[in-house]
Amino acid sequence: MNGVLTPNFFKHSNTIHLKKLSILLPKPTNTFTTTTTTTTTTTTQFTQISLNQPLTSLQCGTMLQSLTNSKSFKRGQQLHGHMISCCILRNNTYLNTKLAAFYSNCGAMYEAQVIFDQIVLKNLFLWNSMIRGYASNGYPMKSLVLYREMMSFGQNPDNFTYPFVLKACGDLGDDIGRRVHCEVVVCGLESDIYVCNSLLSMYSKCGEMDMMKKVFDRMPERDLTSWNTMISGCVRNGDPREAFLVFKMMEKSGLVADATTLLGLLSACIHLAALELGKVIHAYVMRNNLAWCNSFLINSLIEMYCSCNSTVAARRYFEEVTWKDTVSWNSLISGYSRKADAFESLRLFCRMVLEGVGPDQVTLVAVLGACDQITALQFSMSVHSYIIKQGFGANSMVGTALIDTYSKCGSLACSCRVFDEMPVKTLVSWSALVAAYGLHGKGREALLIFNDMIVNSITPDEGVFTSVLTACSHAGLVGEGKEIFYSMKEKYNVQPGLAHYSCLVDLLGRAGHLDEAFEFIKAMEIKPTSDIWAALLSACRLHRNVELAELSAQRVFEMNPKRVSSYVCLSNLYAAEKRWDEVERVRALVRRKGLKKPPGFSFIELDKVVHRFLVGDKSHQQKDDIYAKLKELSQRLKEAGYKPDTSSVLYDVEEEVKEKMLWDHSERLAIAFALIHTRPGTIIRITKNLRVCGDCHTVSKLISKLMCREIIMRDIRRCLVGLFGFDCSKGSTEFLDLYSNPEEKRNEVKKEEDFYHLHYLSMYHFELLFLNFDRPPLLTPLGLALKKNLIISCTIIS
Ligand SMILES: [Zn+2]
Repeated sequence: MNGVLTPNFFKHSNTIHLKKLSILLPKPTNTFTTTTTTTTTTTTQFTQISLNQPLTSLQCGTMLQSLTNSKSFKRGQQLHGHMISCCILRNNTYLNTKLAAFYSNCGAMYEAQVIFDQIVLKNLFLWNSMIRGYASNGYPMKSLVLYREMMSFGQNPDNFTYPFVLKACGDLGDDIGRRVHCEVVVCGLESDIYVCNSLLSMYSKCGEMDMMKKVFDRMPERDLTSWNTMISGCVRNGDPREAFLVFKMMEKSGLVADATTLLGLLSACIHLAALELGKVIHAYVMRNNLAWCNSFLINSLIEMYCSCNSTVAARRYFEEVTWKDTVSWNSLISGYSRKADAFESLRLFCRMVLEGVGPDQVTLVAVLGACDQITALQFSMSVHSYIIKQGFGANSMVGTALIDTYSKCGSLACSCRVFDEMPVKTLVSWSALVAAYGLHGKGREALLIFNDMIVNSITPDEGVFTSVLTACSHAGLVGEGKEIFYSMKEKYNVQPGLAHYSCLVDLLGRAGHLDEAFEFIKAMEIKPTSDIWAALLSACRLHRNVELAELSAQRVFEMNPKRVSSYVCLSNLYAAEKRWDEVERVRALVRRKGLKKPPGFSFIELDKVVHRFLVGDKSHQQKDDIYAKLKELSQRLKEAGYKPDTSSVLYDVEEEVKEKMLWDHSERLAIAFALIHTRPGTIIRITKNLRVCGDCHTVSKLISKLMCREIIMRDIRRCLVGLFGFDCSKGSTEFLDLYSNPEEKRNEVKKEEDFYHLHYLSMYHFELLFLNFDRPPLLTPLGLALKKNLIISCTIIS
């Protein structure tokens, strides 16, 4: 056995005879011949010579070098075996160093360390190889330890050492980087361009913009990497405008942008939502043919268009490029989802599946996000089944998204099942479950889950507290909510942020403690934002406190003059108080500012098709049946003693007209449609993209009782109104109407409608036996049930 090296995987290698080894040795292949000339020669030598006679130390060294460059791990191992069997490794520092460098370069740090430990005379090249290996393979701490060890051995670092030591410092994000910077200066390497570029990158990762700029300014010479690092550093540290200034300076210095520069600039555009600048970059990319096969640039351009709210341009580019990967699809799918165009998002996903592009966890999370926007419970279940089939069933990120989607689609039971079946429950999954209970108005249960989480030794973060406080707010648990809020800092060492303050204002306000909420805002440690004042405004509208509402609205408009929902809220309060002049004043203000209220839609999914209704919708194929049903319902409700609450109608018209207008609300159209098309006992799940008005809330409850149907409604407040045997949480009673003239409003809505071109989501049709709503769907554990009923076919009818 050769004395120096005995890595365990070559324990018996001394028994390998040359002849046997020759079988293992690779024949010359095209892979090698396509690389450099040296590689070709050495490989040929490798095979030819090894078949007949042992290699010399020098030959092995040359070969190792070429294998290191090409990171050919398997071949390197074979050569290692050969060297052991030839006994040329013993006391051969030159070859052992090469071998350690080879393993380190291939990321096999265990093997590299074994060899490294046995080398007595360690040279700088060896130290550098090891430091680089650890820094590049996710062991920054080990890399730094080795660097210190090297110094203690009296070995001075050089300009090849520091780039990797600094990389490790940046990855650790500690202030150790500054100390290393001092050492760079002591070594006299502060003007070396590679070391400086590494310093820039390190400071950028550590968020030290000032230091980064100082290093940059002092650099005697700069290359493209220096400028690129500065540009991406500015974006990374939240100063995208500065990135463009740096770019201008770079252009002046005569350098030409490459793909990395453009990627940095594109992410600056994404942060700034700067569409025009993005288009200029796109034009540059096209002119210079840079996007050819560069998936990063292609995906970045798609992402840029989506982030700049131009999904049309994103789509056009997406269809143009022939070279797409999963990330390209993800960008567009989540782009549509973010723009609340759930239909297009889902349609695109179906196309992706049909085209055989494998989705990843990001795709699935985006798709589930689109499902919950339109309460597509059946489609969500299809996606769930697909998730299991694709092997993402145990993925905690996807699982968490499922919990969220099921709860938003009105099925808390499914959310709980998914949570129970998750193999690894992360903090985010617990948080999602707390939020799910909160959404369904089950504040006390949400608190119990929160306590369970603490018992399971999960340390809460800001996100969980937001979920708990929201849950308390929906359930009106004032005392409990306050207790949680004040325990955040004292008990859990979590500093309350704006979201938490906002939740508490909402909690106090909804419960009618308006003065306390107002005092709370005044005493806040951080400056209140428009969101916080908007929460108070909303509470004032609920409890009809005009004075405080006006004050809150004033603050909101000062901070965010484009917040259309707050104008609506104020105008609605005036309307409820019958102060029509004021209503008109606010409406005029909104028109002058050119703001627009999004049209209100109600969504309902029947037989895997999502139907969308608009207020007074006459475009549905079955409009006659729907209105006849509504007439019948109206009659039966009147007989049952229902008196319409016309305060929700925001127009100064006759009472009779107001009553008629109420029956045009999209929620009622959806309910009537569902009653026509579902069997008795089927749960009706409706989502409204705005708020459900007070009268629709009452009417749904009455219909629920009258028809013995469970109706679950979700609105923008994400507050589920559970009916028929459910606890009715304090639903908001807001209906938004800004247009003084109904005709004007219809026209606006029509424009929007033309954009969507949709009334049915008939483009997908997932055959799934499992989906039968009339039975409780979860008689067996959810995963098992879904596994048994995997998607049989998936066709798109468009
Ligand atoms: Zn309504």
